[in-house]
Amino acid sequence: AKEQGSGRYGVYHTAQGSVRVERFALGNELRRATDRGDFSLQYQPKVDALSGRVCGMEALVRWQHPEFGAVSPGRFIPLAEEMGLIVPLGRWVLNEACRQMAQWQQAGMIPIRMGVNLAGPQIAHERLLQEVDEALAQAGLPASLLDLEITENFVIRQPELTVSKLTQLRERGISLSMDDFGTGYSSLSYLKRLPINTLKIDQSFVRDIGQDRDDEAIVKAIIVMCRSLGIGVLAEGVETSEQLDFLLRHGCHHIQGYYYSRPLDPPALWDFVDQHGMA
Ligand code: C2E
Ligand code: CA
Ligand code: CA
Ligand code: CA
Repeated sequence: AKEQGSGRYGVYHTAQGSVRVERFALGNELRRATDRGDFSLQYQPKVDALSGRVCGMEALVRWQHPEFGAVSPGRFIPLAEEMGLIVPLGRWVLNEACRQMAQWQQAGMIPIRMGVNLAGPQIAHERLLQEVDEALAQAGLPASLLDLEITENFVIRQPELTVSKLTQLRERGISLSMDDFGTGYSSLSYLKRLPINTLKIDQSFVRDIGQDRDDEAIVKAIIVMCRSLGIGVLAEGVETSEQLDFLLRHGCHHIQGYYYSRPLDPPALWDFVDQHGMA
């Protein structure tokens, strides 16, 4: 069926009633939103399933566009990377997450780590270390409360640079997590060279626990490997008690996923922490 344009944004209502946004239009809007800081953060708890207490959280960026509605980060983060906007956007995320964390600390929350996603171009950026220092200093937050989540793929492209930057972050007392583990092109030898504290098992492996023997074998192998390398391990995307039981049985008790909670607005995160206590 023929699509009907609805004007300057290049928004199209398709025959199925869904809204399709032209890439170029989304890109323009993203640039404007980055200038204006039209974003917000939600926070997803990480839970130690052994105690049921909160052991950390992850900041996840949200973009609510006045006309497009909520645009998912899976869509606009890759675009921001392509357009060279991820550095300013990532800087905003880092500052806001640190500011929120400091506010919670002042309100009496027991210290737990805040995970912030770091995209490849941010790691490559020459001012990364200064910007991280500035974000912490401005918020008055200790480096030990920050956990930067990085993905494997960037490491492969620029191993020397990555090792050097990550080492300097670690020297400040910042924790590092390897995100989406198992989905990228990582070589296991990098794991040994990188100063990683925690490895996050990607949700694509967790999803089919109970259904797919291969995925179960991979999950088990990752847990064993982490233990022998002395790296912490966390499972992402845990939704069911069956998945949780499997993970616990095999020695992974740090859990993030809808089973415990979706990403939450700040007041709801506070309530969650209040109810569950902290590890
Ligand atoms: P990610 O870093 O792997 O974040 C986890 C994603 O899985 C989040 O999606 C979260 O809402 C979702 N999730 C958590 N638990 C479950 C579950 O039990 N089931 C399912 N199906 N999903 C679950 P979200 O918020 O849409 O973010 C998608 C991706 O966008 C993130 O994946 C990350 O790669 C990127 N992203 C989000 N915020 C930022 C940011 O501030 N900076 C950067 N560079 N990337 C970000
Ligand atoms: Ca992440
Ligand atoms: Ca992930
Ligand atoms: Ca599978």
